[in-house]
Amino acid sequence: MKIANDCVVSIHYTLTDEAGQTLDSSAGGEPLTYLHGHGGIIPGLENELTDKAKGDTLKVVVQPEDGYGDFNPDMLQQVPREAFQGVDTIEAGMQFQAQGEGGQMQMVVVREVTDEAVLVDGNHPLAGQVLNFDVSIEGVREASAEEIEHGHVH
Ligand code: ZN
Repeated sequence: MKIANDCVVSIHYTLTDEAGQTLDSSAGGEPLTYLHGHGGIIPGLENELTDKAKGDTLKVVVQPEDGYGDFNPDMLQQVPREAFQGVDTIEAGMQFQAQGEGGQMQMVVVREVTDEAVLVDGNHPLAGQVLNFDVSIEGVREASAEEIEHGHVH
């Protein structure tokens, strides 16, 4: 069967950046399984998988607007060093859970540390990047009524 909305799709994928560095891969593990047409994966990848079938392989180039969005400089924030009390060492590259403006928890990455302040970045780590996916379709099946109602795979 061809991939359409409300199919459960299993894929193996390797994600590389523009320099050819591997960022993520399902190789050697379980395939990624998602419910097609419910926003379970980024739109640029989901759109290209429509009408494909089990056994197909494809290369997909996803621009930031169809991936994790553009890099937003407003999501860089200087936080006073005192806000990190109880944390012994703060270094660039560390990740923290932080409370966003709407009260929701979000992941932030430390970009820069000085004696007074810590520069944190709330952008998705892949924001602003062109993403190259090598995908092989491992399975396609119809979703159950319950899966469609819940919007995810059981
Ligand atoms: Zn459920």
